[in-house]
Amino acid sequence: MSKNKDRVCIIGGGPAGLSAAMYLEKKGYENYVIYEKLNKVGGKCWSPKLKVKHNGVEEERSFETGAIMGAITYHAVSEMEEFGGYYHKGPDFKPGEPNMRREFRKTTGEVDHPFEPKVNFSVKKLLGLVKLKKQMKKLNKLMQTKYVGYDCYGHLGIAKGEYYGISKGVEGYCGATKETSFPNYIKGTNPNLKDLALPFSEFCKKNGIEEVQRIWIAPFTSFGYGFFDEIPTALVMKYLDVTTALEFVNMKLWTWQDGTQEIYEHVNKKLKHPAKLQTEVIKVERKDNKVYVTTKDKAGKETTEEFDKLIVTTPLDYFAKYADASKEEKELFSKIIHERYIDYIATFDEGKSPVISGYLVENMVPERLGHAMVYYNRWQHLGNDCPVTVYALANHTGSKDVTYEYTQKTMDEDMAKVGFPIKDKLFAQEVYYCPHVSAKDYADGWYDKLEALQGKNNTFYAGEIISFGDMEDTCAASKDIIGRFF
Ligand SMILES: Cc1cc2nc3c(=O)[nH]c(=O)nc-3n(C[C@H](O)[C@H](O)[C@H](O)COP(=O)(O)OP(=O)(O)OC[C@H]3O[C@@H](n4cnc5c(N)ncnc54)[C@H](O)[C@@H]3O)c2cc1C
Repeated sequence: MSKNKDRVCIIGGGPAGLSAAMYLEKKGYENYVIYEKLNKVGGKCWSPKLKVKHNGVEEERSFETGAIMGAITYHAVSEMEEFGGYYHKGPDFKPGEPNMRREFRKTTGEVDHPFEPKVNFSVKKLLGLVKLKKQMKKLNKLMQTKYVGYDCYGHLGIAKGEYYGISKGVEGYCGATKETSFPNYIKGTNPNLKDLALPFSEFCKKNGIEEVQRIWIAPFTSFGYGFFDEIPTALVMKYLDVTTALEFVNMKLWTWQDGTQEIYEHVNKKLKHPAKLQTEVIKVERKDNKVYVTTKDKAGKETTEEFDKLIVTTPLDYFAKYADASKEEKELFSKIIHERYIDYIATFDEGKSPVISGYLVENMVPERLGHAMVYYNRWQHLGNDCPVTVYALANHTGSKDVTYEYTQKTMDEDMAKVGFPIKDKLFAQEVYYCPHVSAKDYADGWYDKLEALQGKNNTFYAGEIISFGDMEDTCAASKDIIGRFF
């Protein structure tokens, strides 16, 4: 039997699971099943359609409860777009398209212009910006020289001072050539890469580039990925590599007209075997060189099926609870930590909603846990009637968690203080977000230990933990795993 006849089980119908299926098909594997516990695919790319008023007429528009944006570095997502036949808008947006413009505000509501020297001019501000520009240049150089090799998906070898993975580079950007750009693998030894285990604030201090945190903080912390005194640099710089960060600064971002969920709905429709919805995996048993997967459907019926291989794209710390996890799996997966990211879609009284998205940078520090950090107005041309999504973090290493209720209340108060008192909430949620390991476990080689388990018991691990918790890194991780192991 040729190996592409193997029967493969994929747990999870999010970006990681669907991209795994797409890459399996591209390799000639047609005997696979995707199990998804919800009644939709896309996972954390969830884009409900809501009615909004425009010029007195009610229209249906997509809103985002999860993923919103991409950039030129979204290579694997582009492959998904191509497969599904559904494409992004941007970076230049036309009227009638969702928009990614944003402003900065003080928590008192005043519009802030931290990067415009001429607005509220002072010598101190000017000198600060000159320093920032110098340090940005220095960081770009450091990442291309001292930290060469940082710019690939995943974390293989980093703790040992090595690198191996698919390049995230874009030819012509930040020194990337055709050979060192996506989808080529890059490989090498660079002991300096061990520094990527350090929390990002320590890494910046070590390299004399503390000011750059002012650029990285808004697209990182406000998007729920944690605070710079706790998160290993590797996570920060693999998601917001210099190219991607500059695209954020220059507002060269992508978004999707009908929402990110549509990328995955389109892919799912094109797959030979679309995901089996409302089918939750509740048990996994691996024995006699086979994998036995038990699912429960919406009627509560339990079914066990036999597979040759298993791809887990769902949280591994949960997997250890319903699978026959080995001692090594249990030990490794118990080290996984995640962010508690809370968001809601709010409506406002007429004339009281923000007309543009906004960052509240003062709230992006651990001392302000539970406070609103960013609000997102997707349909800016609709004027003052548009619902807006508001976001906050509820945990930080070394601080006491704040509750869901406290966070919601604090976010409401913050929005009122900024000048946008919310009227109703159309949707609210807390998300298991950005699974990762501590700086210490990263330095101890957690990722190389996980790599050593890939394929044991016919089990492969994909999803957010492998590289980073965004659409691109999860899809690219599937590309890598299918490419190397199937
Ligand atoms: C508020 C928010 C904003 C975001 N913004 C962005 C952004 O702008 N850009 C970006 O690139 N990314 C963004 N992300 C992150 C991005 O959405 C995720 O990283 C991505 O969806 C991860 O894909 P995944 O398939 O690994 O996991 P998920 O999306 O979590 O999908 C996992 C799937 O597995 C299913 N599942 C879980 N357990 C089981 C089980 N036992 N049996 C069967 N099915 C199961 C779940 O229901 C889910 O559908 C954002 C996320 C959120 C929440």
